[in-house]
Amino acid sequence: MPDRLFLSPPHMGPNEQLYVDEVFRSNWIAPIGPFVDRFEDDLAALTGMNAMVALSSGTAALHLALRLSGLRPGDEVWGSTMTFIGGVAPILYEQARPVFLDVDAKTLLLDLDLLEEHLAQRAGSRDALPKVVISTDLYGSAIDATRMRALADRFGFLWISDSAESVGSHWNGQHAGYGADFLILSFNGNKIITTSGGGALGCADPAKAAEARFLATQARDPAPHYEHTTFGYNYRLSNVCAAIGVAQLEVLEARVEARRAINAAYRRALGDRPGFFLHNEPETGRANRWLTTIEIDPIKAGIAAEAIRLALEAKNIESRPVWKPMHLQPVFASASAIGGDCAARAFARGLCLPSGSAMTQDDVARVLAVIDRLSR
Ligand SMILES: *Cc1c(COP(=O)(O)O)cnc(C)c1O
Repeated sequence: MPDRLFLSPPHMGPNEQLYVDEVFRSNWIAPIGPFVDRFEDDLAALTGMNAMVALSSGTAALHLALRLSGLRPGDEVWGSTMTFIGGVAPILYEQARPVFLDVDAKTLLLDLDLLEEHLAQRAGSRDALPKVVISTDLYGSAIDATRMRALADRFGFLWISDSAESVGSHWNGQHAGYGADFLILSFNGNKIITTSGGGALGCADPAKAAEARFLATQARDPAPHYEHTTFGYNYRLSNVCAAIGVAQLEVLEARVEARRAINAAYRRALGDRPGFFLHNEPETGRANRWLTTIEIDPIKAGIAAEAIRLALEAKNIESRPVWKPMHLQPVFASASAIGGDCAARAFARGLCLPSGSAMTQDDVARVLAVIDRLSR
């Protein structure tokens, strides 16, 4: 059996190990330290956000963003139905109520026409407008930030950009989520760059970043003993992980290039095949192409996505259905949804192909050979 080809394995550069050695030499084995500071500075430079806070995960970053949004139990948080559970579970931590909106079929990003239409309806009715809207930069594509910012200003919500999958992606020359009130990044093991586990919260308001740091370190009031006027969390990133992150940021651009090249190779081979569709890069955007996703129309292609997944698995190649929409998840059976058919169809037909930045041309050919055998 050939080696397993993973969907998106970690890909270390030349300096990760060196920086971790430096951490050991200096004995900064702690959830703070010089590499955490450097990682935060580098992330602020990358994203253009006023302040970045390095955290233990992207989910923790979203939780803090929601807590800092001043939600009260029962308040609505609107967001895309097509996402990973870590991009919505914190809504439940804060006892808010999620409302799931459909995505654009071509990009799998939150459908902004649908969002605008329903915000406008609410503005003209007695129902309250949502306090928070989360846009999800799915699979590496960044949403139209100009339009999101304008909607946030017009309808008075806080905009959280969940760009966990879009580190290094751009829209109109700016980093994904630029202009949001809060930006969520993830450095989990399968993301485009990784700290093993980790995340970051970007804040437009530096005072919010200071609050996030306070809450992420157990909300300790200034006193020689432990004094608490509120409760927090243990969410800070370790200096060891931050050292890996600093080195990973040095190679981010190369990782984006590699994943874009893999996407282009899949597109050349499959793009014109009847019944096959590869999701578009948003206009004026530069997607990091974290994962290449395809949709297969079983009638036109003569083969279903699941059959392809199983055939790849038989050759020791990992692929995966696209995210199952949240409005179809048992845990959200009683949540509200606005539309959802595009997301449901994408789930029924979609597949994520191996997209790791260390993949060779032979690896891509290995994937394509399996698909070729099935769909010719
Ligand atoms: C990975 C991911 C998260 C959560 O990040 P973790 O670091 O795994 O907690 C949130 N939202 C989306 C869209 C993600 O893909």
